[in-house]
Amino acid sequence: MPELPEVETTRRGLEPHLRGRRIRELVLRDPRLRWPVPPDLPARLAGRDVRGLTRRAKYLLLETDGPGLLLHLGMSGSLRRCAPETPLRPHDHLILRLDDGFEIRLHDPRRFGCCLPLPEPPGTHPLLAALGPEPLGEGFDGDHLFRLSRGRRVPVKAFIMDQQVVVGVGNIYASEALFLAGIRPGRAAGRVSRAEYRALADHIRAVLTEAITEGGTTLRDFVREDGSHGYFRQRLRVYGRAGQPCLACGSPIRSRRIGNRASAYCPRCQR
Ligand SMILES: [Zn+2]
Repeated sequence: MPELPEVETTRRGLEPHLRGRRIRELVLRDPRLRWPVPPDLPARLAGRDVRGLTRRAKYLLLETDGPGLLLHLGMSGSLRRCAPETPLRPHDHLILRLDDGFEIRLHDPRRFGCCLPLPEPPGTHPLLAALGPEPLGEGFDGDHLFRLSRGRRVPVKAFIMDQQVVVGVGNIYASEALFLAGIRPGRAAGRVSRAEYRALADHIRAVLTEAITEGGTTLRDFVREDGSHGYFRQRLRVYGRAGQPCLACGSPIRSRRIGNRASAYCPRCQR
C-alpha cells in the first residue's frame, strides 16, 4: 500500500510536469474506483490550467484555475507520466492529457483509489475536513500528542495511527518510531509521558523524512519507468523482523496484534 512517503515522492516527481500545464482532456476509461468517478468530471476539467499538485495526508490535490481533482492511490494505485504512444496497461483507469503532449495515467488494479472533484477551498472536502495535522508540518509535536492522549486507554500505536490525531503514520513508520523512542506499542496512550511523546514525535518525523529522501533516490526515474513502487528499502529495525534479534540489544523481536495490525517491538528496548 502506498504510504505517505510514496505519495509525497509521487507528488514531488509529478508536480514539475503538471504545474503551469493546461489539461487537454480527462479520459475516464473505467470510473469504478472506490467511489464512482462522476461522469461530468472530464467536461469540468477540460481546458483548465493546473496550478499545482499538493498533498494532504495520503491524498493528492490537483489544483486548477477551476475545479480540481482529489486523488487517492488506495491499496495499489500509482500515477505515471508517459508519452501518448506508450501502450495502455490493464487497470489504467484514468488518463489526464496535457498540453505538452504527455499523459498522466492512474493505474489501480485493486480499485481502492479515488478520483473526485475538489471543492474550493480544498480543505472543506468531507474526506479532508476531519484530518489531524501533517506529521511534517506545523501543528504537530510531542505536546500535541500529549494533550490529545490524556485519559486515553487506546494502545499508543493505534493512537498515533489515528488520522484525527496525526495523518499518514502507517504501520511501518509507527512501529519504527516507537522502537526508536523506546515505547512499547501496546502501552495505553494516556500512560505515555510528555517527554516520551516529544521523543516519539521527533522520531516519527525522522523516519518519514528518511523514507521520503530514500524514495527520492529509489524512484529518481519513476516518471519514465513503470511507475510501480514497493516499500522503500529502508533500514527497518523492527517492522517485519519478528523473531530476529534486536539491532540494539539482541533480544528476539516480538510481534502482537494491535488494532488488527501486526506490531513488532523489542521486549527489552521498549517499555
Ligand atoms: Zn532491543
